[in-house]
Amino acid sequence: MSFMPTFSSLDQLADIQLDGLKWTVDHAYKGSAFYRNKLDAAGITPSDIQSVDDLKYLPLTTSQDLSDDYPFPLLSTPMSEVVRIHASSGTTGKRKVLCYTRKDIEDWTNFFARCYEMAELTHEDRVQICVGYGVWTAGVSFQAGCEKFGAMAIPAGPGNLEMQMEFLVDFKTTVMCCTASMGLLLAEEVERRGLRDRIHLKKMIYGSERSSDAMRSRIRKLLNLSDMYDIPGMTELYGPGTGLECRAHDGIHYWADYYILEILNPETLEPVADGEVGEMVITTLRKEAAPLIRYRTRDLTAMKKGMCSCGSLLPRHDRILGRSDDMFIVKAVNVYPGQIDSALGLVNGIGCEYQVVVDRVDGKDVMRLRVECAQGEDSSLMSDKARVVKDTIRRKILVTPDVEIVPYGTLPRSERKTKRVIDNREN
Ligand code: ZN
Repeated sequence: MSFMPTFSSLDQLADIQLDGLKWTVDHAYKGSAFYRNKLDAAGITPSDIQSVDDLKYLPLTTSQDLSDDYPFPLLSTPMSEVVRIHASSGTTGKRKVLCYTRKDIEDWTNFFARCYEMAELTHEDRVQICVGYGVWTAGVSFQAGCEKFGAMAIPAGPGNLEMQMEFLVDFKTTVMCCTASMGLLLAEEVERRGLRDRIHLKKMIYGSERSSDAMRSRIRKLLNLSDMYDIPGMTELYGPGTGLECRAHDGIHYWADYYILEILNPETLEPVADGEVGEMVITTLRKEAAPLIRYRTRDLTAMKKGMCSCGSLLPRHDRILGRSDDMFIVKAVNVYPGQIDSALGLVNGIGCEYQVVVDRVDGKDVMRLRVECAQGEDSSLMSDKARVVKDTIRRKILVTPDVEIVPYGTLPRSERKTKRVIDNREN
């Protein structure tokens, strides 16, 4: 049984998207006072949607709209059709709560099964799911998708390293699902206990936060993995599983038969040129309880050009390169922290932690970049390395920073979000 979409050309995909767009606008207009008011104010009726291109006339939806409409925002079906709710952790402002109908849950489960298919699992695989269970979208969806696909789910939850190690060895887990930082923690524990020859892990599906190339290659090496797959996801758009890297590891295939992705300049709200970085704006095609119409995710990425070498017709976006709120401008260049992550990933011998300090000196912007050296390296011997970092940043981001390599472990870190950019010009 395959969970891949059945369209066989991009024209067919466009037809699916037009049908889904028409249905969504009509459904939201009829079912939700919030959307009806918004569309009325913009002077648009559902019958105005005649092509996917008409998307651009629709008003944008923001996270502010979700908090204004708390606790059940965007609800477009009667409450009696809602079978489940999920909520985000609410790290910024009020918690986001989203409603799901039975069909929403089925759709989500089906396209999550597609993730495991994209990662080329088989029914023989044993999948240790080390993500949060509860009101969050993660645990339950990883598990439902795994069962639907037909592999064996081990609902381990996050944390509890002792138990994770026991499961890895005793249950012969072959696939680990976790955040990248949990993955690194597990990998280092396996190394510390000398368990590498006693475990059977082959793949990791990781997500939900930034991770550098350095971090990924360390996890891969410590666990002797054949493949690692980045999985995107946000509560507003069902949850995790809305796309996956394929074996070509050249971007994330996203499920364009379930949602339309636009990449807009976060300041002008116009589409960026093909391949340029911008904000992901999402319109769902089948979501019943809480459909999204041009929802501004604040996540930054770029479309990948051309067809993937794996042969899939599903389009691709780049990794999530950060939040549009985190963007800063140096010498008239837009800089996103995620771009610094990717640039640093190209340099050997340095760690994955860094800090950017931007000042204005004599009316000019000055960007200073402090980067940790890799574990076991001597930072005082790395002036050559600083030059390499400087050149790499200049080449990739078009800004030339002052670079200082500092000892491993000296920059601040935190479990969730570390503040990496200090902009002194705002004061
Ligand atoms: Zn591919």
